[in-house]
Amino acid sequence: MGKTIRILLKIVCIAAAAAAIATLATYRALTGIFLDAETYRDTTAYIIIHHDGADKPVSVKAVQDYHKNVKGWESGFGYNFYLKNGKIYQLHEVNACTANALGYNCNAVSICIHTPDKHDTRTQLNLILLVNALAIKYDIKKDHIVGHGELPNQRNTRCPELNLEKLRKWTIGN
Ligand SMILES: [Zn+2]
Repeated sequence: MGKTIRILLKIVCIAAAAAAIATLATYRALTGIFLDAETYRDTTAYIIIHHDGADKPVSVKAVQDYHKNVKGWESGFGYNFYLKNGKIYQLHEVNACTANALGYNCNAVSICIHTPDKHDTRTQLNLILLVNALAIKYDIKKDHIVGHGELPNQRNTRCPELNLEKLRKWTIGN
């Protein structure tokens, strides 16, 4: 990647991160979703990407209710970020622990994508921007930007059914 492109990409990513944080405030205000139990990480070694496995549109509130009431996760929504229909929803503080992957709940920032439409380019672009913003923020190396199923001991999940190699190629850093 050329130096100018890297600088431009960095600026865009920082703007995207700022937009995500604005989304958190407005989203919480609109939906009244607040978190009962939020604990915080001391270290962030990974960015872990998931998908919601939905084959049809689903509301953010429905996912929140499912995680909290059916799965029984104390922290409610299982991920820090949820990407859907061109929006970045931030459901937890960026440094909050989440119920995202066995053994990685308190050393990773987690992102879940909603992709019933595999050609949703807005979600793909948001994913690239957000991953870059988080990689800059936490100084995370490319090989620690992983799909849920790439981690050991995750019950052979294929989550997030995404080309992670391609995503890492679009990431700043080593
Ligand atoms: Zn997953």
